[in-house]
Amino acid sequence: MGFSTDAIHAGQHPDPTTGAVMVPIYQTSTYVQEGVGKHKGYEYARTQNPTREALERNVAALEKADHGIAYASGMAAIHAIVQTLTAGDEILLGDNLYGGTYRLLDKVMKPLGMAFRTVPTRDPAVVAEAITPRTRMLLIETPSNPVMILTDIPAVSGLCRERGVRLVVDNTFMSPYFQNPLEMGADLVVHSSTKYLNGHSDMVGGIVATRDAALAERLRFLQNAAGAVPGPFDAWLALRGIKTLALRMERHALNAIKVARYLENQAGVERVIYPGLESHPQYELARRQMRGFGGMVSADLGSFEAARRVLPRFRIFSLAESLGGVESLVSHPASMTHASVPEPERRKVGLTDGLIRFSVGCEDVEDLIEDVKQALS
Ligand SMILES: *Cc1c(COP(=O)(O)O)cnc(C)c1O
Repeated sequence: MGFSTDAIHAGQHPDPTTGAVMVPIYQTSTYVQEGVGKHKGYEYARTQNPTREALERNVAALEKADHGIAYASGMAAIHAIVQTLTAGDEILLGDNLYGGTYRLLDKVMKPLGMAFRTVPTRDPAVVAEAITPRTRMLLIETPSNPVMILTDIPAVSGLCRERGVRLVVDNTFMSPYFQNPLEMGADLVVHSSTKYLNGHSDMVGGIVATRDAALAERLRFLQNAAGAVPGPFDAWLALRGIKTLALRMERHALNAIKVARYLENQAGVERVIYPGLESHPQYELARRQMRGFGGMVSADLGSFEAARRVLPRFRIFSLAESLGGVESLVSHPASMTHASVPEPERRKVGLTDGLIRFSVGCEDVEDLIEDVKQALS
C-alpha cells in the first residue's frame, strides 16, 4: 500500500463488538478471565492493550518494520533501547543529539557502568575509527537537532554491520513520511511520537520499530517489565494524528523552505540551516536519502543578546520547547532543549548561543513570513 493508505488504515480494523470504524480507547486496567488461565489474550493493561497495539502495528507499517513497541515518551523508548545493553558495553552517540538523550547516557546510564562517547558521524571514516571491541551500539539523529548535520545512513549501517554494532536512528525530525532508516540498513528506529507522528502537541509518547525479532522480543519484555507504557488515550491520540501525517509533512516542508529562503536574505541573520537549501553542506546527501527536507529550520542571529531580543517578539510562532505540531514554534536550544549538553560539546557542532530553532507549522506561510519579518525588524 501507499504511505497515506497505510497511515490511515494499517494495523486497524473495525471494532468486532460494535463495528466502530475508529479503534476504541480501551480505557481499562484489566480484563475478565473465564477461568484460571483462560482469557482472550488480554490479562493486564501494562502487558496488553488493544489501542496501543493498533498504534504499534500502524507505526511498524510506516517504518517498513515488522514490530512496533510503544512507550510513555520518546525518552522512555530510548531508555528501553539502551537497556538492551549491559554494564561495560560502549555506546557511540552522534555529536549533536536531543539534549535529553545525552543526559540519559551521561547522568543515568554512565553511573550504571555503561560507557559512551560522542562521534562526528557526518564522516563515516571517523565512525569506523571510533568503533572498538566494546562498542555495541551507534545512536544517531539525521538531520540532527538542532544544527541539521546529516549522517549517511547506508554508509554507516554497512560498517556497523561489519563490526557487529547496532545502528539506532532517532527519526523524530523526518518522520517515516520523509525517511525510512530501516530500509537503509538501520537495526532500530525510534520516534518521539510527541512530535510529528501525533502532530497536535497534545500528548507525550515514544515508539521503537524494528525488523529484528529477537530485539523486538527483548524490547517488548522491557516495555512490560519496566512498565513505561503509554496510556490508551495517548496511544489513540497518536493514532488519530498519524492519519494526516502525509498531508501535514507536505505542508510543513513547503512552509519551511519558504521561511528558510526568507531568512537567508535578512540582515542580522548570520546563517540559516535547512537541509533543503542548496547552501547546506550536505544538500546532495539530503536529496539522496530523504524524500523531503522536513519542517525544522535553524538560524544563527550572531549572539545570545540578539536571540534574547528577537524571541519574545514573535506573535504566531510560540516561544516553546518541542516541535512537530501544526502550530509554529520557535526556541532557543542552548538554554532550552540542549541546556544539559556541556558547552564545549555544543560549541564543537556549531550550536551557538545565537542559534534559534523554528518548528515551522501548517499555518498560511505569508502569515509566518510576516511574523518573522516583524520579529527581526
Ligand atoms: C523530543 C525528542 C526526544 C524525546 O522525546 P519525548 O517524547 O519528549 O520524551 C527524543 N529525540 C528527539 C529528536 C526529540 O525531538
